[in-house]
Amino acid sequence: MALSRLDNLYRQVILDHSSHPHHHGSLEKSNQRIELNNPTCGDVIHLELNMEDDVIQDIAFSGHGCSISTASASMMTEAVLGKTLLEAMVLSENFSQLVQGNDVPELDKLGDAAMLGGVAKFPARIKCATLAWKA
Ligand code: ZN
Repeated sequence: MALSRLDNLYRQVILDHSSHPHHHGSLEKSNQRIELNNPTCGDVIHLELNMEDDVIQDIAFSGHGCSISTASASMMTEAVLGKTLLEAMVLSENFSQLVQGNDVPELDKLGDAAMLGGVAKFPARIKCATLAWKA
């Protein structure tokens, strides 16, 4: 596949996540709420989790942000759902390394989020991509 076609595919997946984000909204039952913002871009995210026995049973996000932050939040919810807090922290750290242009182990565990590696080329957008993961 030509590199430009590959870029198009990535762009399409990112656009899909930003226009139809997964796990968007709020939970009926949640025991963790976090709000975080990225003043550089104006992105705001509210994250709700239902944790049981240290496992993320359910997750939802709301707020408003640019397409990168929304897509990244959507991908993050997919990646961490059903994981333990520790596993989620490892994924978060790996994602942070990825968008800084570093090689990361077990890239496939990040799911669609692995496609955001291209953000490393746009340092101004790194904060947009990592917002939800930091939360
Ligand atoms: Zn942003």
